[in-house]
Amino acid sequence: MTVMIFAAVFATAGAVSVAVAVSAWRRRDEAAGYRPIALVAAGAAWWSAMSMLNLFVREPTGAAWAMSLAYAGVFTLVAGWWAAARAFADRFWTLRPRAAVLLAVEPVLCTVALATNPWHHLFMTELRPTSVGGAYAAVFGPLFWVHALYCYVMLTVCCVAVLRLVIRASGRHRGYLLAVLTSAPTAAVNLTGVLSAGRLVDLTAIGFAFGAPVMYWMVRTDSGPSSAPVTHRDLFTIMSDLVIVIDGQRRILDFNPAAGRLLSGLGAASGHCPLPDVFGELPADGRVEFTIDDIGGTGTDLSIQISDMTGARRRGTARLLVARDVTEHNRQRRALEQANEQLRNQLATIERLRNDLAEQASRDHLTGLHNRRHLMTNLTGMLASGRALTVALIDIDHFKKVNDGYGHNAGDEVLKRVAQRLAAAAGPGDLVARYGGEEFVIVLDGCGLYEAAARVDEVRRTIAAAVSVTISAGVAEARPGHDVTTLLHTADVALYAAKSAGRDRVELALPAAAVG
Ligand code: GH3
Ligand code: MG
Ligand code: MG
Repeated sequence: MTVMIFAAVFATAGAVSVAVAVSAWRRRDEAAGYRPIALVAAGAAWWSAMSMLNLFVREPTGAAWAMSLAYAGVFTLVAGWWAAARAFADRFWTLRPRAAVLLAVEPVLCTVALATNPWHHLFMTELRPTSVGGAYAAVFGPLFWVHALYCYVMLTVCCVAVLRLVIRASGRHRGYLLAVLTSAPTAAVNLTGVLSAGRLVDLTAIGFAFGAPVMYWMVRTDSGPSSAPVTHRDLFTIMSDLVIVIDGQRRILDFNPAAGRLLSGLGAASGHCPLPDVFGELPADGRVEFTIDDIGGTGTDLSIQISDMTGARRRGTARLLVARDVTEHNRQRRALEQANEQLRNQLATIERLRNDLAEQASRDHLTGLHNRRHLMTNLTGMLASGRALTVALIDIDHFKKVNDGYGHNAGDEVLKRVAQRLAAAAGPGDLVARYGGEEFVIVLDGCGLYEAAARVDEVRRTIAAAVSVTISAGVAEARPGHDVTTLLHTADVALYAAKSAGRDRVELALPAAAVG
């Protein structure tokens, strides 16, 4: 009965271990930890199988074979655990040949000891039938104890390493912790068997029956090797930012590989070198940016965040420099600024051209005065402002005769000169325009009717004296209710009066009351 219970437990331990081995092996390329786990599980499976075989052999020679063969599982398991501890710490870890050779030393010696045991009995001194259905157990000799010591030391070292990892790592690592914890019952049952001095069969597989399901859970839920712990040291090593720690005297205390590459380029790659002078004056805290010229011949822009670590390091002062290469960033920023500047210039040019064009469109080609369209638009605005203003509609007298007598070009020349005189007479707020043909309009801003008439009369006299043509003008003051058309019409009526009265004069459009 006891035999059957043991057999069932051993078989379960073996089967689950096989399942773990297969699952872990399938994931072997995902993280370095899976191969060692497969190895540990395979070792446990083999050990369990041999323990079960031993239950049924029940004769000394066969039992000796089963027990000896079980050690293949022991070796595999111990080596696997060692590799697992390494791989858990570094998910890219691989087994180096030197380590493999060292790992093989004890198993080889142990195998030799086992193979030669019949002659010296230093490993197993004798085999005794036990109360477990008459299955045999060994009484161990000194060589076994050396082997057991080796195994326990190895496994303890591994457990401590994994526990340290769990404490130091920055991720979640329940899986590792559980793996370590489940090794405790295994050790307990193993020791019970071993220390029974031949009264109990090897019970280690009972421990596997507990440990293997946990391992299985770890592998299936991926809570072990592939979520490999990333230690802060890993981050420090892998990050592309340059990390340098300096003391109060600017001596380098520590740096990561990225910083090491820069520092060796500057001839300061070892610890306790002073920080190169190119780093300049560094504040205790804050950010500085500067360019290092002598790396690879081109300038490297570094942006450095400096943190005062004095509080964190209890002995002496220290500063943490985290530098980032911002050369490319700066280059892009400068390119962008340049492009922006170009764009601004182009916009300014476009704006200038647009204004020129608008200005040209508002001018009369021949005289350079504003044209009729400009006049109409602006006069509308000026009237809407409600300010006092007066318009004078001016017409050159007998201009047809100029054309007829001296030619059209001479006529044009006269038009230009008259335009010059008119423009010269205009004040800052006034508007002078060529209304059409040989007619002009002056809008006198803020000017009453009589003052305006006097000023226009002054221009009339100047033109008569200087240009050898005379002009007639009709002057009208803007009144409430006037729009552009009625105002100009009023001026036109006055102009007509001036023409009728003999030309070369200025007539006022008097309000109806004044006329009456
Ligand atoms: P009035 O004293 O009644 O105003 O007589 P006028 O000859 O000045 O008037 P009219 O309207 O009969 O003639 C205006 C002339 O102005 C006719 C036209 O050929 C001439 N004219 C109009 N625009 C231009 C121009 O741009 N250049 C030249 N040279 N002559 C022009
Ligand atoms: Mg005319
Ligand atoms: Mg005329």
